[in-house]
Amino acid sequence: MKTRQRQHEPVIGLEVHVELNTESKMFCSNSTQYFGQTPNIHTCPVCLGFPGALPYTNKKAIEYCIKIGLALGCEIAEETVFERKNYFYSDLPKGYQISQYRWPLCRGGRMVVKNKVGEEREIRVNRVHMEEDTAKLVHQFGISNSKGATLIDFNRSGVPLVEIVTEPDFRDLAEIRDYAKKLQQVMRYLGVSNADMEKGDMRLEANVSVRQVQSSKFKVQNELPKYRIELKNINSFRFMVAAVQYEIERQIEALEKGEKLVQETRGWDENNRRTYVQRVKEEATDYRYFPEPDIPPIEIDKDIETELRRQMPELPWEKTERLIQEYSLSSSQARVLSETQEFADYFEEAVKVVNSLSLSLSLSLSPVRIANVLINKKFDREQVLPARFVEMIREEEDRPGVSSEELEGAVHSVIAENTKAVADYRKGKEASLQFLLGQVMAKTRGQSNPVAIREALLRNLR
Ligand SMILES: [Zn+2]
Repeated sequence: MKTRQRQHEPVIGLEVHVELNTESKMFCSNSTQYFGQTPNIHTCPVCLGFPGALPYTNKKAIEYCIKIGLALGCEIAEETVFERKNYFYSDLPKGYQISQYRWPLCRGGRMVVKNKVGEEREIRVNRVHMEEDTAKLVHQFGISNSKGATLIDFNRSGVPLVEIVTEPDFRDLAEIRDYAKKLQQVMRYLGVSNADMEKGDMRLEANVSVRQVQSSKFKVQNELPKYRIELKNINSFRFMVAAVQYEIERQIEALEKGEKLVQETRGWDENNRRTYVQRVKEEATDYRYFPEPDIPPIEIDKDIETELRRQMPELPWEKTERLIQEYSLSSSQARVLSETQEFADYFEEAVKVVNSLSLSLSLSLSPVRIANVLINKKFDREQVLPARFVEMIREEEDRPGVSSEELEGAVHSVIAENTKAVADYRKGKEASLQFLLGQVMAKTRGQSNPVAIREALLRNLR
């Protein structure tokens, strides 16, 4: 297995669909709520595809899409055009999907991800564009003459959908996991989607191929394999990862046997834990794209872009970096805290509370300590205010972590080792006491109670 991996490497690109959480649909005013709703209650001639019904664009959705593009470092188009993507399927009442092809809203971004050995790699984002969701098909069995039937729920038809397409830059599963996680965080930080993969708010498709690793004399390796396997209609992130892993193995094995791989679409069979062929593509499907005649091209004013830039929140990776810089947290602490904005806010609020308390207390309540307790202690943050949380840590502090003998011993040796600070303190330099306190704290591995240290120090210095 190890040698195989050295000869071949996977080349993977991802397409991610994200459903926006706007109030209304992309091209009509119906509600976007479809999860757990009575079927077909949020519909109208536009999203049912009646002839002659005219679509009108959802401004909020366009703004959300631009924000996603900005977060990924994309260039925002000055003018964007919707096009019709023509294909026939029962979840598509118009016979085409309004999407974007030649003139997407955003182009050319990037995302930094960690690979399986913890190195950072850049994934290029090709484009971020706007489109509409299809209706939802519900397969039921035993409805008429126990033959079963497929029902169509149009509540989802026309819900705003953003598609984010990467270049085939992924080389391992860790990168895919990290990318999906960061993308999900971005959506939540921006407040544009719940990005819940279980509910289908965020769906992944992957194209996977494998190529021979070229010898090291070739510095750049950009030749792509002649085929690619598209993994589609896999509605769980876990299954998608399993399918990608299976494909990598299968393709390497096939290439080693000298078999030729062809372009095809595959699905995931969870029962047998393997992928299976859904469709073999002779050539690329022709969707006969053409500009949507009912929606005029949309100009994106520079002022609009500037305003949306101004509204951008601190992004997850920016927050992680700032927490490290500002509070000397470890990168893993900072990453955990910035998993959600709410968690990071809670931490910073707690630090503020500590800073407003006296200096001697803050010694044992360093930001690193607060972060540690926050991460390791399980409690409902909605029920406990940050001020109360800090109080809880202080109450625990009151129980001495070291014996009084050990504390006394530490105080004696600190006084003996720091004659200058002791002399300074006796001359009236208050800051020296603080220094000595820190030394005792370090000697007792941060386990002792600062109030008790202070008492012991004062007693011995007298
Ligand atoms: Zn509608």
